[in-house]
Amino acid sequence: MADKIKGKGVISGIAVGTILLAGQNLDGYLVNYKPGKLDAEKKKAAAALVEVAEGMKKSIDDFNSKGLKEQAAILEAHRMIIEDPALSGAIDEKLNECGSAPKAVLDAAEVNAQIFESMEDEVFRGRAVDIRDVGKRIAKFLLGIKEPEIAGKVIVAGKEIEPSVIAGLPTDKIAGVILGAGSTTAHAVIIAKTRAIPTVVGVGKGIEQMADGDPAILDGGTGDILIRPSAEERASYDEKIKKQEELKAYYATLKTLPAKTLDGVEVDLVANIGSPADVDAANGFGAQGVGLFRSEFVFMGKTDVPKEEDQFKEYKAAVEKCNGNLCVIRTMDIGGDKPLPYIQVGAEENPFLGYRAIRISLKREDLFMPQLKAILRAGKFGKAAIMFPMVINVQEFLDAKAMVEKAKRELAAEGKDYSDDVQVGIMVETPAAAVMTPILAKYVDFFSIGTNDLVQYTLAVDRGNAQISYLYNHFNPAVLRLIKRTIESANKEGKWAGMCGEMASDPCAAILLMAMGIKELSMSAPSIPRVKEVIRKITSTEAKNILDKVMEMEDGDKIKDYLATLTF
Ligand code: PEP
Ligand code: MG
Repeated sequence: MADKIKGKGVISGIAVGTILLAGQNLDGYLVNYKPGKLDAEKKKAAAALVEVAEGMKKSIDDFNSKGLKEQAAILEAHRMIIEDPALSGAIDEKLNECGSAPKAVLDAAEVNAQIFESMEDEVFRGRAVDIRDVGKRIAKFLLGIKEPEIAGKVIVAGKEIEPSVIAGLPTDKIAGVILGAGSTTAHAVIIAKTRAIPTVVGVGKGIEQMADGDPAILDGGTGDILIRPSAEERASYDEKIKKQEELKAYYATLKTLPAKTLDGVEVDLVANIGSPADVDAANGFGAQGVGLFRSEFVFMGKTDVPKEEDQFKEYKAAVEKCNGNLCVIRTMDIGGDKPLPYIQVGAEENPFLGYRAIRISLKREDLFMPQLKAILRAGKFGKAAIMFPMVINVQEFLDAKAMVEKAKRELAAEGKDYSDDVQVGIMVETPAAAVMTPILAKYVDFFSIGTNDLVQYTLAVDRGNAQISYLYNHFNPAVLRLIKRTIESANKEGKWAGMCGEMASDPCAAILLMAMGIKELSMSAPSIPRVKEVIRKITSTEAKNILDKVMEMEDGDKIKDYLATLTF
């Protein structure tokens, strides 16, 4: 009988593979390490920093050339940690205490990690994992430890998964991911999501029941994990795996079919992306374009602001890969949970309510203008749209739109080709914007509802706080009313409304949104087939009846329960 562990399934699918534990214990190696003289150890440590950073640089170039931007961004952040004098200074100090280069590196990384860990901001706390990861990488180099050879498919497991582990493995070798922590926004989970790798989080001490090389099965839908399954248990999953393969084959048949109800009401199903390479994956799932290009990924993992020319290349590549479909590029959503080292925001009591997104863009023409120009130029190579994040009033939109016009004038003066046919719209992700949509709709070309933030701001529930996640519900009647108002306001003015928050990938939500009159749903591409399947199974009258019933209900949890009883 297998050891059974239960966690929270966050990316569905069955994975079969051998466990690869992230977070190797180096204690045994440290005991056997024979340090030389202090001077020699200091030289060794300094050389290791250079060598490891060089190795990372090669991997970063490699990832970039393959379009794997998220992986490249993670390693770039790690390279910056190595080059930070805070680390080399701490290593020197620790070497004076212990005399062993690998131990000093680990101790120094620990000290720096603890500084971050004690910070209030969740994002800064998250950096502790990266710092420990970097320390371990350098220590392993000093101890001569090679990364294990990977024979078959692996299920990467760890209390916290060091970002470099996922970033360093070939994607086709990773069958699944198991995370001890409960975070769904960890680097590992973000990467797994764009690659549709079955993932279970929040298994806590369950990680201790696993060893490297253990055969395992993971169900990313139910959150069930079997470690060392018996032949019978393994066989019991054969049926599920067969079904999964059949479902994949069935979904492949839907790829070119429209997301149309039985009576002909159609919605565009498009993808959320972070890099041009994601468009290829999205096209594989039948995406009809891009509803949200999170352009901040273009800014992350760099030591300086990317130039107009560099941004242009990225946006052009994404627009071209959309093959004539619309590519909505969101201007940088920096600040809040996404700080950048070269854009000083300063310490804030409430970063989510602080200097971020469009607020930064409107104050920093030196950042905003090159981005707008790059998007307008990319528009020449297909169909592009500009979308502003975190708008709260009409004036912000008008000011930002005026900058678009200014960017066009400057491009014309510079003799650069650009598209004059680029739609300009906003994210509706603040309650203020949602309430004001009847007015905003007169000015914008489109709305895209960002429920990830709209839910958090409407309900005053932090989107990343596990303790109150039971309150974070996109079916809360207050949220539903704001969404309905937004869609109706757009339609009344002859504009279009879409959605790019996570809610768009919920098939039950898709039914309600369709009945409200939404025109586009943008999501992680692997969710597209299931949403399409559901839309193709109902009529618009059925959807309308379900919506009417839901809008009469007073409680978000009851709405969720009711929708879960519907079978499609
Ligand atoms: C949102 O808030 O719903 C959204 C799509 O933006 P992000 O998740 O990048 O904040
Ligand atoms: Mg948002």
